[in-house]
Amino acid sequence: MEQQSRGRLAISTVVRARHFAASVKIPRISEDDILQETFKKLSDAHAGGFVLISGETGRSFVIAQDLAHAVSKVATKTSWKNVSQMRLGTFIAYPGLSIPHIPITHESLLADADVLSLVRGRRVLYPVQENGKYIGWFFDAEEHKAAVDTPPPTFICGNPKHPHSNPDPDSGFCYRCRYPIVRTS
Ligand SMILES: [Zn+2]
Repeated sequence: MEQQSRGRLAISTVVRARHFAASVKIPRISEDDILQETFKKLSDAHAGGFVLISGETGRSFVIAQDLAHAVSKVATKTSWKNVSQMRLGTFIAYPGLSIPHIPITHESLLADADVLSLVRGRRVLYPVQENGKYIGWFFDAEEHKAAVDTPPPTFICGNPKHPHSNPDPDSGFCYRCRYPIVRTS
């Protein structure tokens, strides 16, 4: 049994490894989007992270929970309304927030490359190609890939009887009852 699993690992390729996520699993979100749109897109895609796009270029992978925590931190000092309408690129560059992100390499990997020679657990994301087309992403550290499959954050209103869960912070108020958003999940 042990020998079998070692055998499987040894022959694993980039696309078959748990470090791999197909392109459709990770939304691409422009730095020009506002935060409200950003979280709406994550909710629609059921994704726990996204590739940050600057112009046409993918810059880095951002974990949605990390972004939501930073948003919540700034919202308590300013307002949810204010933060929700901020541009993603502006927010990420906000002084003192240092939101963790995983840089995308210039080097891409081939889908059928042997995975064992690659994985080093670094904070790096590789684009993956098959027959000259980009088909997905390879996370050097497996724990970063886990973020992709984690449910996206939600935004909870301050309704004292029925706190509702919202897909995004909207204009700072709940979609259902119009109580203000007070926290993220
Ligand atoms: Zn509500």
